[in-house]
Amino acid sequence: MIIAIDGPAAAGKSTSAKLLAERLNFLYLDTGAMYRCIALSVLEHKIDIYDESSLKDFISSFKLELKTVDGSPDFLVNGSSVSKKIRTTSISKKVSEISAIPAIREYMVSLQRSFAKNSNCVVEGRDIGTVVFPEAEIKFFIIASVEVRAQRRKLELQNMGEKISLKKLRHDIKARDKYDSERSHSPLKKAINAIKIDTTKMNINEQVNYMISHVNLKKIGKNNK
Ligand code: C5P
Repeated sequence: MIIAIDGPAAAGKSTSAKLLAERLNFLYLDTGAMYRCIALSVLEHKIDIYDESSLKDFISSFKLELKTVDGSPDFLVNGSSVSKKIRTTSISKKVSEISAIPAIREYMVSLQRSFAKNSNCVVEGRDIGTVVFPEAEIKFFIIASVEVRAQRRKLELQNMGEKISLKKLRHDIKARDKYDSERSHSPLKKAINAIKIDTTKMNINEQVNYMISHVNLKKIGKNNK
């Protein structure tokens, strides 16, 4: 079974997707982290993403692996763990532009499909229910007010030792949503059959319980068929 979770930046997708996967004993695939990994590598190697041939060479040498370390997913780029490095604001700022490039998306989508192949998986991103797994059995689209999203991101960054004002975070989140929703290749969009969840006034337990109740309904429906 594939559970697709999409939605704008910092809406609570990762936290709920991870917990949902734990509770269901499913694999958890964070596709945003995958785009962050390739963005990190593009920036480190100073790749001109608008030059077709350098991009092609870069993609063919880029190796991304997903491992589970102490129960948590860990991404390795060309053999090195990058899970901490990809969460900085400098990566958040550049990732949308890099992930809008069609050749990068095509490569990532095939990798995402291969990572989730033959397993029960909670897959989280922007285009999972629409493009990557349009046939997913359950689709959620998670939203929350910009204010609440900025507050959540501030706390997350604080825990990583990065200080940034709410005003700046509000601005960055809005800019990223705009870029992600307006790009021509697989933009951020709610799939018609996705269940919309507004988490502005929900805590994480409420979110996960609500999602689990939908999964159980789906399972009951399947068993009754
Ligand atoms: O989910 P997260 O905020 O880590 O995603 C980082 C960025 O990766 C998004 O802002 C978006 O530009 C890109 N992304 C995407 N498609 C996905 C997941 C993420 O374009 N499926």
